Amino acid sequence: MTMLPGGYMGKILQVDLTTRRSRTEPLDRTLAEQYWGGHGFGIRLFYDLVDPAVDPLAPENPLIFAVGPFVGTPIPLSGRHSVVAKSPLTGIWGEGDVGGKWGMALKAAGYDVLIVTGAADRPVYLWISEDAVAIREAGHLWGLDAFAAEETIRRETHAKAVTGTIGVAGERLLPIAAIVFDGHDARMAGRGGLGAVMGAKRLKGIAAYGRGATPVRDPAALKQSIKAVAGDIVQRTMALKDFGTAGGVLPSNELGDLPIRNWRGGLWTEGAQRISGQRMTETILKGKYYCGSCIVGCGRVVEVDSPAHGKIAGAGPEYETLAGFGSMVLVDDLEALALANELANRAGIDTISAGNIAGFAFEAFERGLITQADTGGRELRWGDADAMLWLVRALGTGEPEMAHLLAHGVRRAAEALGGGAEAFAVHVKGMEPPFHDPRAFSSLAVGYATSPNGASHWAATHVIEGKVALPELGYPSQVDRFATVGKGILTAKMQDYIGTFHTLRLCRFLIRIGARPVLDWYRHVTGREVDLDELMRVGARMSNLKRVFNVRCGITRKDDTLPPRLLKEPRPEGGAAGYLPDLETMLAEYYDYRGWNADGVPRPETLERLGLGSEVADLPRAEPSGIAAPETRTEAGGRRAP
Ligand code: SF4
Repeated sequence: MTMLPGGYMGKILQVDLTTRRSRTEPLDRTLAEQYWGGHGFGIRLFYDLVDPAVDPLAPENPLIFAVGPFVGTPIPLSGRHSVVAKSPLTGIWGEGDVGGKWGMALKAAGYDVLIVTGAADRPVYLWISEDAVAIREAGHLWGLDAFAAEETIRRETHAKAVTGTIGVAGERLLPIAAIVFDGHDARMAGRGGLGAVMGAKRLKGIAAYGRGATPVRDPAALKQSIKAVAGDIVQRTMALKDFGTAGGVLPSNELGDLPIRNWRGGLWTEGAQRISGQRMTETILKGKYYCGSCIVGCGRVVEVDSPAHGKIAGAGPEYETLAGFGSMVLVDDLEALALANELANRAGIDTISAGNIAGFAFEAFERGLITQADTGGRELRWGDADAMLWLVRALGTGEPEMAHLLAHGVRRAAEALGGGAEAFAVHVKGMEPPFHDPRAFSSLAVGYATSPNGASHWAATHVIEGKVALPELGYPSQVDRFATVGKGILTAKMQDYIGTFHTLRLCRFLIRIGARPVLDWYRHVTGREVDLDELMRVGARMSNLKRVFNVRCGITRKDDTLPPRLLKEPRPEGGAAGYLPDLETMLAEYYDYRGWNADGVPRPETLERLGLGSEVADLPRAEPSGIAAPETRTEAGGRRAP
């Protein structure tokens, strides 16, 4: 057997819940060198296992968990893991990027990847340690919320076990169901309904614990390299440390980025102040949460004890949750938002989808498409915190019937409601977007439109249009946030660049320090020397393979679009008033840079250049007419003549 690079435990654990058998396979060296880990392992293994026509809730849809070579090392912000499956919300590729400590526990138990296939005939949970892999009965856990299930599993396994669980939403197969990792610390695989995939397998939880050490090729050099940049990391992430992601509420409002009243408003200054990270720090904040190996600690720990909302102690709301249950429905009660966060975490639902659904439902109520007959007499009025909390509870259980429909996402809800509801259903490919507005940062338009799992911020980033420079990628200073030309290329580059963070399992907030330390760490951990071009090639390989899978699911250019509200209705006031993104121009540039044809299908030569030649036969053969010959380019971004 050829030797693996450093950084890997060398084992893939496969568990078939139908037969209740598990087995271990060696990690392939080529897989490690070409895909690195995390999302990269996820797409390669998933692609090879799955028929694109598979029903996302069928036993044949595998649920894959993967870590990367940095997990378990002292590298800062490196303890994350990936979860992938076909998404029940969108029907295409689904992925989750998860913080916390579960990934470190899986790796310490001896595994780089866990693949769960099949479905149990009754509820079970999985217990993974260095000594054994056990499939245990979980009938007594079915019906418990995600936190209570985690507490019980930890009691029954090991006091230091780290667990991922589903709540009632996952059990009931609601397509906005999340997987909740690390118990009350609530680190979520939120997007795309991966909790429902777990529920369909009748898998209530996965606990992991071990003491295995990640092999590092040059520990002394790694230590030195980390020491050299640790201060810089702390310095560049100070605002995150002080106010968490919630610190973004105020600047987002000023820039015209914060979504207001189901993406219709322009400014919400007093409300934004009341729900801001700064206000949280002054009122309900009790501490900070650090994912494994993190030195920043952007997570919030809050405590509320109020007559209106009772007692809450634990994970506090992030920016996305504050926007979703706050500005989207004009609720400015911070304690109510902390409770909404707790309810969503316990039920195990994605607060980004749920926040968009809340905005959609309140507007549908305003327009008479949802009535009190649908809500058990409840009025859904803007600014009503009790109505928002009622809806969050209802989405978590799928009751009453209207909540069950809404928990299938705004696309399906709008189709069922009719009456023009599609005009205000905000989604891309069935996935509701995170709460940053493409009418405030134009690259988000092409980022959301091309993101492989629907509108997701993991494949769309506007940091280069904000305050971060990346000279290595050709951006020595920030880019005009309203410009059109260059944004297709910027987006493709950033998707590939950040994609490699998702293979190594680094937190994306590390983007601020540039590529050099990441390449140094890769060399010290794995023993392999790679340059920026190779890093970008790994990212591009992953982006293209996800695209091939989605094309085989039926995705074409017509799906790479934005909802009418974000494409045709400008914000009425504030920092982005009057602007609409020119998506078509950016998309054409994006396709051209990627080496995809005008239908958004990767060209054969593009796939061959990335070592994906054997996937060419999987694609439709017709090449649309009138398409210019592709240019060749370096992976770091510069164009070369063919
Ligand atoms: S910066 Fe925040 S999200 Fe990133 S690893 Fe640290 S605590 Fe987790």
